[in-house]
Amino acid sequence: MTSVQLETPHSGKYEQPTGLFINGEFVKGVDGKTFEVINPSNEKVITSVHEATEKDVDIAVAAARKAFEGPWRKETPEQRGKYLVKLADLFEQNLDLLAAIESLDNGKAISMAKVDVGMCAGCLRYYGGWADKIEGKVIDTTPDTFNYTKKEPIGVCGQIIPWNFPLLMWAWKIGPAIACGNTVVIKTAEQTPLSALVAARLVKEAGFPPGVINVLSGFGKIAGAAIASHMDVDKVAFTGSTVVGRQIMKAAAGSNLKKVTLELGGKSPNIVFEDADIDNAISWVNFGIFFNHGQCCCAGSRVYVQESIYDTFLQRFKERASKNVVGDPFGADTFQGPQVSQVQFDRIMSYIEEGKKSGAKVETGGERKGKEGFFIEPTIFSNVTEDMKIVQEEIFGPVCSIAKFKTKEDAIRIGNSTTYGLAAAVHTSNLNTAIEVSNALKAGTVWVNAYNMLHHQLPFGGFKESGIGRELGEAALDNYTQVKTVSIRLGDALFG
Ligand code: ADP
Repeated sequence: MTSVQLETPHSGKYEQPTGLFINGEFVKGVDGKTFEVINPSNEKVITSVHEATEKDVDIAVAAARKAFEGPWRKETPEQRGKYLVKLADLFEQNLDLLAAIESLDNGKAISMAKVDVGMCAGCLRYYGGWADKIEGKVIDTTPDTFNYTKKEPIGVCGQIIPWNFPLLMWAWKIGPAIACGNTVVIKTAEQTPLSALVAARLVKEAGFPPGVINVLSGFGKIAGAAIASHMDVDKVAFTGSTVVGRQIMKAAAGSNLKKVTLELGGKSPNIVFEDADIDNAISWVNFGIFFNHGQCCCAGSRVYVQESIYDTFLQRFKERASKNVVGDPFGADTFQGPQVSQVQFDRIMSYIEEGKKSGAKVETGGERKGKEGFFIEPTIFSNVTEDMKIVQEEIFGPVCSIAKFKTKEDAIRIGNSTTYGLAAAVHTSNLNTAIEVSNALKAGTVWVNAYNMLHHQLPFGGFKESGIGRELGEAALDNYTQVKTVSIRLGDALFG
């Protein structure tokens, strides 16, 4: 059996594929293994899916290789674009279903899940548009040569994605890889395999040739590690924790030196100056940390407020955070659902305990919410020092610290005082402050008077230990192409 009937409160009954999607078909794993998928809202088993082991990775990579060297190479760039645009259309047509599966499996609020799916469609369509605009150059050197460059696909791309945005990360990875003419073996996170399997069915419906996109459910240490060290995978793209990012790089280095792009963790500063519009700043700071239950690599988990407005800001931020509706992901007003898993829940709660023990003050939250499901209260810590674990390490939950700063120079220094550099934000009504501080912050994205405003046209990725390479925008095409130089000697002049 490679599918089951499931039901969600938002979209009713539907057919959920459970197989591995290899060479255009849903199949069982060679070893016949399955694993359970847990609903984080009630801790109950939703269903089981087939698990990919090393052997299945080999089969999927072989299918992707065959497609890459065969039919996919012969497709025109225009046709690649059409497939992606068709897939984007199918995402939109199935928006309610896909969003509901995200809420069921990941626990994200349905209103936010719908935004995610809309963004997936935007991303896939955007890269569909790029497919026939990937161009090389003619480069004049000497009169007796004709030189040009081509941007060729890299080949078989192994892609390993996390559980916090199961579909959006899928689209971010698939869009540019396919636009550039690569084939893909993508492994979803073991916590959230369901939506990507429905997306795989849409891949088939969109008419992609078999083997071009292969979707595997499986564990990081088994299927993920097999992809990262595979001798016939030409490139690996990973989004996840910094710890695993390092392992992926090692595996690439120890195997065939496959190309590596990494989108890793963060501990992003959200800096509020005294001249900011305070209502707006509070909304964005709240959204910056508590959106997606704090499970965002770019979460604004370190809030810094200029001292003259600190007390007022903190009071109002507390009030705002305690009004966030935490509960059933399918509730229309819900802003924050459960954390994704027991492991993540325990990790976050241990950071909260650590914060309490180290002398930080809980301004609001700090406890589990309810008795069932992995719900945690939105939590703000004050009275923090820069060396505290809760200020330095990525918590990946609805927990932030808040502290005051005096001057612009202070703000820049503390903003840059972690090993990460994924994102940052500045809230101010002064254009000079906005630009000066944005320029000085060592982060891949800086928002001004906003937070979490990702868009498929805008590159996203990390400075420092937050990653290598950029996703989204034109920049992502560099990850999925390699430049070939062709230099033609003209005329019949002999060498030497
Ligand atoms: P988290 O700790 O938040 O779950 P991870 O970085 O562990 O994040 O996981 C992100 C993705 O990386 C998941 O798809 C996971 O299965 C995969 N993964 C975990 N460990 C490894 C590994 N050693 N090699 C390859 N992939 C891995």
